[in-house]
Amino acid sequence: MATTILVLGAGTGGIITAMELNKTVGNDGEVNPVKILVFEKEEKNVFAPSLLWLMVGKRKPEQVFRNTRKIAGDGIDLVIGEIQAVNPEQISVTVKGQEYKGDYMVISLGVDQVPEYNLNSYGHDFYTLDGATNFNEQLQNFKGGEIAVLVPSLPFKCPAAPYEAAMLIESYIRKKGLGDKTEISLYTPEPGPMGVAGKELSGAVRQMVEMKGIKYFPEHQLTSATDKTLTFSNGKTADFDLLAYTPKHQCPSVIKATSLVGKLGWIEVDRHTMETNFPNVYAIGDITFIPLEMGKPLPKAGVFAHYQAETVAHNVAQKIAGKPSDKTFNGDGQCFLELGGGKAGYAGGNFYGSPLPIVKMKKPGYFWHWTKVWFEKYWWFRYF
Ligand SMILES: Cc1cc2nc3c(=O)[nH]c(=O)nc-3n(C[C@H](O)[C@H](O)[C@H](O)COP(=O)(O)OP(=O)(O)OC[C@H]3O[C@@H](n4cnc5c(N)ncnc54)[C@H](O)[C@@H]3O)c2cc1C
Repeated sequence: MATTILVLGAGTGGIITAMELNKTVGNDGEVNPVKILVFEKEEKNVFAPSLLWLMVGKRKPEQVFRNTRKIAGDGIDLVIGEIQAVNPEQISVTVKGQEYKGDYMVISLGVDQVPEYNLNSYGHDFYTLDGATNFNEQLQNFKGGEIAVLVPSLPFKCPAAPYEAAMLIESYIRKKGLGDKTEISLYTPEPGPMGVAGKELSGAVRQMVEMKGIKYFPEHQLTSATDKTLTFSNGKTADFDLLAYTPKHQCPSVIKATSLVGKLGWIEVDRHTMETNFPNVYAIGDITFIPLEMGKPLPKAGVFAHYQAETVAHNVAQKIAGKPSDKTFNGDGQCFLELGGGKAGYAGGNFYGSPLPIVKMKKPGYFWHWTKVWFEKYWWFRYF
């Protein structure tokens, strides 16, 4: 019987794992030496970085997703449905009551995004297709007032996203001639922007945000909300007319029920191979918890899911061929930072740097914005 690989989740990590594996093991659709089974609950496959452009009308909803079914074929089988159970000991998953057994399993189920503090009644979760779409509708009708961008809890994926959202909104408001009538504020429990990347970079991002007139409120932990007001643990309150917020992130419940989850509530892995405590069971991307030497975890970002997927796909293919697992994930990562006005910054480096991550930022400009746009196009072309 053909070796079977179960890939859990068809987001960033799952898609790259499946496609890389398919290519490396020599599947061509007609002759498939390896069976690759991908499990995904969503029909709509959203490219998350584009949600920020959707918020400010630079994309239409139908431009930021594709049908998940398009990833199937040429050696990749797709099972659409909610995974109900995962058994790492047996290397099996259950979907719609049917159990699928494999020889290898790669878990890339990301995070469960859930509402908190009743924010879904008062604002827009811009980490979802519907939330970003609804925020944009409200923004188009906005005539001036207070706009709040809120991070109600940590961790959240893409450490740059709330900062990008605030700067893109500012650019939109200014272009519409509402700058004098509008105040934009960003509230977060973090001590500063993108802190894992180092003080210098964090300071530079804070400066960019504040230079645009956006009011920045770090170390503001939300404790409650109403339809007009946010209240924080330091006793301060803030009013808003329009609210965009990040959702609470938690480990997917189907994984929480397994012994894969460590003390901190996420899957712990070997940080170089991404293998879990269970042989031939790997976890990649947002669902993992990887402590860095500086004491904080590796941020949750697609770029890490991407490189980790390439590492795991290579090593699983090597194992199947009876060869050594000779590729490692070394903590490298890069990200774009949209500034509005058609410009972006770019930061990159090594997050496994010792004793601190070594991350540098390039001079912001039009080039990096267009590179991000190019990457969006490349993503659709390459994988869908
Ligand atoms: C607004 C925004 C902007 C971003 N911008 C960037 C950026 O510029 N650069 C960057 O590096 N990262 C960015 N990110 C973060 C990036 O999208 C994630 O870090 C990345 O997608 C993580 O990949 P993953 O494979 O771990 O999880 P995901 O891509 O979230 O995939 C997980 C998949 O598993 C599926 N799933 C979950 N549970 C089940 C279940 N029980 N049954 C079946 N299927 C299930 C989900 O539906 C999902 O498709 C951004 C995120 C957001 C929200």
